Amino acid sequence: MNIHEYQGKEILKSFGVRVQEGIVAETPEQAVEAASTLKEQTGTGWWVVKAQIHAGGRGKGGGVKLAKSLEEVQEKAAKIIGMQLVTPQTGPEGKKVNKVLIAQDVYYPGASEHKEFYMSVLLDRATGRNIIMYSPEGGMDIEEVAAKTPDKIFKEEVDPKVGLQAFQARKVAFNFGLEGAAFKEMVKFVSALYKAYEGTDSSLFEINPVLKTSDDKIMAVDAKVNLDDNALYRHPDYAAMRDLAEEDPTEVEAGKSNLNYVKLDGNVGCMVNGAGLAMATMDIIKLAGGEPANFLDVGGTASAKTVEAAFHIILQDPNVKAILINIFGGIVRCDRVAQGVIDAYQNIGDIKVPIIVRLQGTNAEEAKKLIDESGLQVYSAIALQEAADLVTEVLKN
Ligand code: GDP
Ligand code: MN
Repeated sequence: MNIHEYQGKEILKSFGVRVQEGIVAETPEQAVEAASTLKEQTGTGWWVVKAQIHAGGRGKGGGVKLAKSLEEVQEKAAKIIGMQLVTPQTGPEGKKVNKVLIAQDVYYPGASEHKEFYMSVLLDRATGRNIIMYSPEGGMDIEEVAAKTPDKIFKEEVDPKVGLQAFQARKVAFNFGLEGAAFKEMVKFVSALYKAYEGTDSSLFEINPVLKTSDDKIMAVDAKVNLDDNALYRHPDYAAMRDLAEEDPTEVEAGKSNLNYVKLDGNVGCMVNGAGLAMATMDIIKLAGGEPANFLDVGGTASAKTVEAAFHIILQDPNVKAILINIFGGIVRCDRVAQGVIDAYQNIGDIKVPIIVRLQGTNAEEAKKLIDESGLQVYSAIALQEAADLVTEVLKN
């Protein structure tokens, strides 16, 4: 699950990571109020107005603006709230901004230069260990740094038996070229960030930039946090941070019915039980000359209710020219699934696309008979190839 920058920063703060202070706002009036409060709390006289969407690259798209007075805060918040923000990560249609974070300006001049670093904590699947990935080239596109100057990206692997060691945190600070107070602050920052990553059961914490201020403080200016869905039951307070407005509405609806649905660009809708079978079915569709319109795993127990919910979701996609239902009857009996398909078909009514049902496993023959005798526009098959051929045939018409 993804969360907003302001929520990520709240979490970081609770683990003792220094962050650029900010207050979230949903209207220009709230933004001005937030800016005043921040002035009292931090003494700042300048602010940054930051669009809160689940995508990075906001600065490049015009979603991060410096404001040098309360009037400018009001002005810039009014401009950003409600805008359709396009960044390199949103796709051309962009994302609607509903909230802004009003943050203290931390790029103020001082005794030394400020510096931007990159740091993330994530699981390295190759070694099965958590790593801290970091680079002195922060603030900008880390993908570009990785492509052009891979020697500027460092990795520190954490042994799960002993956890992050103090010498490792010092190594990070050393590789950043820090000294004195900034060095000490960075050691604390790395340790606290790693604790936050572990303590929240996250799969990613990415801080870009980590800022060294001109008075040698180290802080998180941005926060991209990816919480592990499978661990959310242990963190109801984080689960409550979910922002449905940021997610694909069809995928949200699918989630409510316990369906694993991912929308794709093709023309053949799929309804399958089991993720592996769903992948194989998508391959078969491609081999037969079609393109899958979605990935949809209805789970182990495909009841009439789940089948109906799945139909509703697939049929919302205007590109769908045929639907292939591929169910293996192991725990669930094929005849019950067949009855479910027939019931759902009749309940929804007015289904215009041809449906091909391939049922294999327990009571497959009975299931085929039920479908063939239902009098509906449903083609039945037992063998997968047979089903694929039917898809090719209906796509021709
Ligand atoms: P992203 O573009 O979505 O990654 O958003 P960030 O939170 O990383 O902000 C983008 C950029 O805005 C940063 O790299 C900074 O250059 C700039 N920025 C962020 N906070 C401040 C601030 O307090 N003052 C100034 N002057 N610039 C800031
Ligand atoms: Mn950033």
